[in-house]
Amino acid sequence: MPTQPLSPLKILYIEDDSNSRRLVQRILQAEGYEVHVAEDGLAGLELARQIRPALVLTDVNMGGMTGHEVATRLKEMPETKHTPVIAMTANMLQTDREIALVAGCDGYITKPIDIDALPGQIEQFLAGAREQVDAGVKVQRLEEYRNTLGVRLEATVAELQHANNELRRMDKMKKDFVVITSHELRTPATLIYGYIKLLKMETDQLNIGEHFDMIVEKILTATQRMNDAVDAIINVSLIDSEQLELTAKPVDLQDVVQSIVQQMQPVALQRSQKLYMSDMAALPPVPGDANYLRKALSNLVDNAVKYTPDGGSIGIEAAVEFDTMHIIVSDTGIGINRADQEHIFEKFYVLEDSAYHSTNKSTFMGGGMGLGLTVTHGIIRAHGGRIWVDSEGQDTERLPGSRFHIMLPMTAPIKREATLAEK
Ligand code: ADP
Repeated sequence: MPTQPLSPLKILYIEDDSNSRRLVQRILQAEGYEVHVAEDGLAGLELARQIRPALVLTDVNMGGMTGHEVATRLKEMPETKHTPVIAMTANMLQTDREIALVAGCDGYITKPIDIDALPGQIEQFLAGAREQVDAGVKVQRLEEYRNTLGVRLEATVAELQHANNELRRMDKMKKDFVVITSHELRTPATLIYGYIKLLKMETDQLNIGEHFDMIVEKILTATQRMNDAVDAIINVSLIDSEQLELTAKPVDLQDVVQSIVQQMQPVALQRSQKLYMSDMAALPPVPGDANYLRKALSNLVDNAVKYTPDGGSIGIEAAVEFDTMHIIVSDTGIGINRADQEHIFEKFYVLEDSAYHSTNKSTFMGGGMGLGLTVTHGIIRAHGGRIWVDSEGQDTERLPGSRFHIMLPMTAPIKREATLAEK
């Protein structure tokens, strides 16, 4: 490769004090160097791998990795093992300097920085100047350095363990909070829903006017949405804590799918969508929990309706393949980009802007909370099955559609009234 004598030499400066960073950067840039800075040792190592500097300047006393430890790593990494590393330290003791050298530093510059002398010092190190440790003390300094590393390692592991325990404790608190509040909300929400239904039956009979009917209808829909949201949160928290309890029995898939189609048909009709299912009469029963499987599949059908424009079609097909039940929910909707396909099963993952969020869950692209697919995924996994999506990408004009595949094992031992919660 031809050499490029005009390109400036790169210097990496690792320093946690922003004033020193700015000062050194200014001085060295004025000398024509390309100066890169990092705020701590780890960031410095990463940057060094990327930019391969001609020289590294590092502060010694930093939070996280010390300058000595950074030097040790730089001398181990293939990208930087021949790069001069210069420690900047206020410690003037001879032993400190010797330890810096045995750790991997090639020299040191004392702090506070001498603005006039710095460019000359850097130039010398770039030209090959190296400090040496007296052979008589080398072994002793290495041992001291090794002891310091051992003590630091123990303290760091203890600190990490403590932080990890604290995170676990807080995570448990968060999960408990979600479980307790969603259960507390479920009871009144179910009660409200029941009473509104009663009210609607009464008002339907009394015939008290369209306006009043419309208000009751709106409250009913809103309450249903609130119930769905509380249910989704409860299900996700059960899935998260691996406590989803399935009552496993032979499930007639035709029954389950028919009930979903019946429930969704009015919405599909409103949107002029064709909702169809394949002939499932001859299918053998699947071992599983009918209620949870209904929930899993109806989330997919809800989404298919939501992300397919008016006039499109949504299909639910199923077939036995070897010892597996293969279910496909397909639509002629907007499709899903490949990069998003594995992420859509994660909690709260939604692709559309929250501005699209609508109060009606069947509106075209009316976004939800991003929990539907998480619940479906959790339920299928709890059945020992797999779920994935196949789509050419998202295109609101071309409408490539999406196909959600579910594979449910037919051979899972059916535990009567028992749980399959261990998945
Ligand atoms: P939400 O409650 O927002 O519908 P989901 O977990 O069910 O959340 O889905 C996550 C995201 O995956 C949705 O926001 C949507 O962008 C995308 N998605 C799900 N199903 C489909 C589909 N059939 N067609 C296109 N996009 C879909």
